[in-house]
Amino acid sequence: MENRRVFVTQSVMPTFEEYINTIKPIWNSHQLTNMGVYHQELETKLKEYLNVPELSLMVNGHMALELTIQSFEFQEGAEIITTPYTFISTTHAIIRNHLKPIFCDIKATDGTIDETKIEALISEKTVGIVPVHVYGHICDVDAIQKIAEKYDLKVIYDAAHAFGVSYKGKGIGNYGDASIFSFHATKVFHTIEGGAVTFCDHKMYNKLYGLKNFGIHGEEIVAEIGANAKMNEFCAAMGLCNLKYVDKRHNARRKKYEIYMNILKGTAGIEILTNSNTESTFNYAYFPILINANKYGIGRDEVYERLKKNGIYARKYFYPLTSDQICFKNTFRSAKLDIARKISAQVLTLPLYADLEDKMVENIAYLIKSKTL
Ligand SMILES: *Cc1c(COP(=O)(O)O)cnc(C)c1O
Repeated sequence: MENRRVFVTQSVMPTFEEYINTIKPIWNSHQLTNMGVYHQELETKLKEYLNVPELSLMVNGHMALELTIQSFEFQEGAEIITTPYTFISTTHAIIRNHLKPIFCDIKATDGTIDETKIEALISEKTVGIVPVHVYGHICDVDAIQKIAEKYDLKVIYDAAHAFGVSYKGKGIGNYGDASIFSFHATKVFHTIEGGAVTFCDHKMYNKLYGLKNFGIHGEEIVAEIGANAKMNEFCAAMGLCNLKYVDKRHNARRKKYEIYMNILKGTAGIEILTNSNTESTFNYAYFPILINANKYGIGRDEVYERLKKNGIYARKYFYPLTSDQICFKNTFRSAKLDIARKISAQVLTLPLYADLEDKMVENIAYLIKSKTL
């Protein structure tokens, strides 16, 4: 194979000229941040694109989640039911709000939280659920909503992977009490660093506006203990540029996804984690496969190493489970998370991005299918 390195993702870019032209007016205005014109324009355009009534831009996806959780003013020590099969940000955002994550197992079909196991974890202290639309696969939002209503819980979706996905004809950001998106450079839509919160209750807009701006609600009034999580104008401008190409890039990713799928499906010992929700659209954000060492003959870690020797840097998204991370000092290790542990031990996410050549996708897929790694 040719001598170059292929990573799991690569940031998409507008042309240099386009970005430069977009940011030129900032030199005249001298307004670099603090909810400027680009910030406002991007909020308006994203509301339209994501098909949601309300949206608040943030400096990144993590702060979007942390501040959204804070906005509900849960009592310290209260419990949040969540998934361990995610990026560490989801769990950190809960713990940094002085809340306790209660980990729920996931479904082997698509990697999302197993909604049938949520109720058994609810206690007197439970105040909310933070599920993740992992890989852009949509959680069972209807079942989760029913549970939330029955027990009077808030639902905050980590939709960092679910940009552009809709369910039953509505933008995915309409479900639950709020959803957060990440616009990090490696995500399907990016603003270099950035994120957003979507919601339906207009009152949340002012609440989040305050929280992302030090809690300031007037020149002399600081009404709450806020943070600084404002998106600056250069990032908003990158978002405005990238938004123009998001559909084109979606189609490009779909094509690569289908190449992988056609070559790899039916391979003994290789299972593909797909979106199992039949009423949702899909954004082809990631291509996760599960490697069953007994049936495939080679284990996940070995496949990972051998791909690396071929210059292909797949990633073990998500391994280890967040609940097992050393920073939590074994607090959550005993949780019964059989399926999450099994999937986590088998998963490998293959390179997938709009600019990846079709030929390279074929090469990677055939390497795995033929075991000529
Ligand atoms: C990327 C990501 C985040 C954090 O978003 P940032 O913009 O990087 O802060 C949170 N949750 C999940 C599932 C993610 O993949």
